[in-house]
Amino acid sequence: MITGKNCIAGDFSAKGSVVFKTTNPKLNIENPTAFVEATKEEIEEAVSSAWSAFKIFRNVPGKQRAAFLNAIADEILALDQELVDMYVTESGLPEGRAKGERGRTMGQLRSFAELVSNDHWRENTFDAAQPDRKPLPKDDLRKTMIPLGPVAVFGASNFPLAYSTAGGDTASALAAGCPVIVKSHPMHAGTSELVASAIVRAAGKTGMPKGVFSSINGGIQAGVDLVNHPKIKAVGFTGSITGGRALFDLAAKREEPIPVFAEMGSINPVIITPSAIAKRGNEIAKTYAGSITLGTGQFCTNPGLLLTIKDENTQDFVNELAKETIALDPQCMLHPNIKSGYEKKGGDVTSQLGVEVVGKVEGDLEPNYAASVVATVSGTEFLANPKLHQEVFGPFSMVVQCKDEAALLQIIEGLEGQLTGTLIAEENDSLDLVEIVDALENRVGRIIYNGVPTGVEVCPSMQHGGPYPASTDSRFTAVGTHAIKRWVRPVSYQSFPKNLLPDHLNG
Ligand code: NAP
Repeated sequence: MITGKNCIAGDFSAKGSVVFKTTNPKLNIENPTAFVEATKEEIEEAVSSAWSAFKIFRNVPGKQRAAFLNAIADEILALDQELVDMYVTESGLPEGRAKGERGRTMGQLRSFAELVSNDHWRENTFDAAQPDRKPLPKDDLRKTMIPLGPVAVFGASNFPLAYSTAGGDTASALAAGCPVIVKSHPMHAGTSELVASAIVRAAGKTGMPKGVFSSINGGIQAGVDLVNHPKIKAVGFTGSITGGRALFDLAAKREEPIPVFAEMGSINPVIITPSAIAKRGNEIAKTYAGSITLGTGQFCTNPGLLLTIKDENTQDFVNELAKETIALDPQCMLHPNIKSGYEKKGGDVTSQLGVEVVGKVEGDLEPNYAASVVATVSGTEFLANPKLHQEVFGPFSMVVQCKDEAALLQIIEGLEGQLTGTLIAEENDSLDLVEIVDALENRVGRIIYNGVPTGVEVCPSMQHGGPYPASTDSRFTAVGTHAIKRWVRPVSYQSFPKNLLPDHLNG
């Protein structure tokens, strides 16, 4: 049973009077629970408890933190059908996706648990003293990683579990030894409350300090208050460029600026060579129709931009892609606002000079269902018009037909930073693939060869983050165990007596 309350340092609390409700996008109705927005007093309580907890939690041995993370995974699973039903009701996503995402969320928690079960992740380095070194002796130096402090997490609308309350940001921050305060996403506050209750139970069972986790309901002001609080030391965010950039600017203007790791999505260029189209155009079209419409296109890795060089096969390929895409059943979007955003941005792009809509699902759709769109434009028009470079969040993709290889390279080099870039090519391709890969490397965080960008494996070699605006710091990943590096900083100990060194530096 959900209460609509905030979870402040382990207690459920509702001191405020402002409430909001979530939506069932499939039925296009409001869900019954009224969620009470956190007051300034409650936010203060959450942060000051997190600060007190930090002093203990930062020194909790890795194995105990691992037990906490594993217990969160167990408690999430124990929520069983109640969690699945809440997820489906608030997101419009199917039950299979809910269960898959739950598995991914638990897998992430367990992989961070395994990571911190020993201290390898700290990248400890040791430089032995050389007292007899000439002309000057060298001191004993040891370096390790320590947690930054309480972290504010803003979950994503499009992953109510895996990038939300107990998602990758929370799991990696807790693993690092940082208490977490989540601002629950207002589109799935009920899912968030259930997961928050699981975290609280796990913290209780594994003896974690009160204040190690809180979750607050609220709108923009609650997020602003959280980021502005002097005892918040870092921010994790997944969502729009507008939201991520606003929080980044806010954090930079604080008296003590703090890092904001915002993952803001991209249009994920896919380069399809004429040789690949000539050999297997229909197969590529079918595969890409599936990728463009997967999750109703509501993925940060959605392939929104397909780049090729115009020849005698290009138009057939574009027609086939459009045919395959609109043949797939329209799906529900996450929320009426996401649907209206999709229609507005899609309309902005398709009304630009030179853009042709090749395929669009027509007819009456259910209120929050999305009409998939495939459009095309010439390379020259694309280059000249930055409006065509923006993300249309939903089942939308645009094929850009360049006049030659030089124009293709110019487009890649001119793109904003991207999460992914994909190359669909043949073994003995007519294009210079090395040059294309070189250009892509400079613009993206992950390069896929002969595959699709949707589907983000959770493993140490994954890079989920690219040059701005894909993310605010391309040196870090939001997915995979290296995500822990966002929440720690290096400290060196010089000439330290053994009894004052942290245990893991006593080698
Ligand atoms: P969002 O609007 O960026 O919101 C994400 C979270 O940040 C919410 O909790 C939101 O609170 C908060 N927030 C937004 N702007 C803020 C600000 N200026 N100050 C403080 N907090 C702020 O993203 P969304 O709700 O998930 O979806 C909206 C659009 O974002 C989508 O239509 C899509 O274009 C894009 N999006 C992209 C990706 C991606 O991976 N590429 C993923 C999700 C969404 P409030 O809701 O209370 O404002």
